[in-house]
Amino acid sequence: MTRSLTILGATGSIGRSTSEVVLAHRDEFRVEAVVGGRDAAALADTAKKLGARFAALADEAGGQALKEALAGTGIDSGAGDAAVIEAAERDADLVLAAISGTAGLRPTHAAMKPGRRLALANKESLVCAGAAFMADARRLRVEIMPVDSEHNALDQALAAGGNKDVEKAIITASGGPFRTWPRERIATASPKEASAHPVWSMGNKINIDSATLMNKGLELIEAHHLFGLEAERLDVLVHPESIVHGLVQWSDGAVTAGLALPDMKVPIANALRHHARLRMDLPRLDLAAIGRLSFERPDEARFPCLTLAKAALRAGGAMPTILNAANEIAVEAYMAGQIGFYAISETVESVCSTFSARKIAAPATVFEALALDEEAREGARRLIPAYTVSTLLSGARKG
Ligand code: NAD
Ligand code: MG
Repeated sequence: MTRSLTILGATGSIGRSTSEVVLAHRDEFRVEAVVGGRDAAALADTAKKLGARFAALADEAGGQALKEALAGTGIDSGAGDAAVIEAAERDADLVLAAISGTAGLRPTHAAMKPGRRLALANKESLVCAGAAFMADARRLRVEIMPVDSEHNALDQALAAGGNKDVEKAIITASGGPFRTWPRERIATASPKEASAHPVWSMGNKINIDSATLMNKGLELIEAHHLFGLEAERLDVLVHPESIVHGLVQWSDGAVTAGLALPDMKVPIANALRHHARLRMDLPRLDLAAIGRLSFERPDEARFPCLTLAKAALRAGGAMPTILNAANEIAVEAYMAGQIGFYAISETVESVCSTFSARKIAAPATVFEALALDEEAREGARRLIPAYTVSTLLSGARKG
């Protein structure tokens, strides 16, 4: 049976891996719509390659270029926010949500239609609006399948027992490019160095989040919402080989783990499966060839973003929304060369502490979450200049 699929963020790293999975299973999937951010040419190519019916570009200004690139193909197109929402809402059995950042929340939420399956890569949706998002998913009977490799592994491991028997669910982290670097060297690391991920090839934002370990913090919050596990039952383990992605420790002491070679096509294929698993023609895990798997505890002194995310998860309420918003602004400023590496965690900490006194409840709707997100972004934007100056001064001192 052919199922229809819409891909949000089709031109990105996850989107391209999804295209490969779909092209390897042409008889299983028919592509309804594809969505991209700014690159009209790449989106047109993707739409043609996948035989999509509709292509939507978020950037209004690229609409004409997209239309011209698709002329004569029979593929409809649109540009701007409304076109993106239209793409998300069009009839499809499955939607794969892989827009990066909180920009993905509205389209991902719009893709929630009764009885649909949502293959979710956009973790920021859950961090920004987790409670509201999951409540809507339950109300609309939307099945959420995690694409994030750790959560996909946990989802498979959790199938071995009941949720109440889970003592601990552990997600692994590669440790990022700075795992072995001393703090002083990390402090002056350039965005290019932070983007050089040792294992995965990913988009810019998640690359920086992996270097700060904020990605792992966001993933703890993601796991909390996806699996209904509180902070005390969630943990992080650094595992540089990235072969074991998630582990479930049961009340009898047994541990069930999810393993795979680090290739996002594996969790993507798993999230898109129907009655049976998709057959993937990928290299198989050869543990004898790998020989050794190593594990260590994360060093939160060098990676304070993980501490901040854990604190936001424990505090609950609106703190994850605030943390996520401040992080996005700080990461943008870091990537633009405006602030140093540790100014990311300092910005997040400062914005979180400003908001924590207000004890704001968890946003009850996605729209409430977005309003709060904007408020926290504004708070972070106001702080960036202070860090810019101090970075320049410390740079000057060193010079
Ligand atoms: P990416 O930057 O490579 O791709 C992002 C995609 O979203 C692109 O298609 C881009 O054009 C589109 N986009 C950006 N802004 C948009 C907007 N405002 N409206 C519509 N489309 C927009 O990012 P990625 O690495 O593919 O990550 C996507 C999501 O998946 C993120 O939330 C990330 O945390 C998550 N994720 C990624 C990986 C990975 O291996 N790359 C692993 C796990 C989870
Ligand atoms: Mg992950």
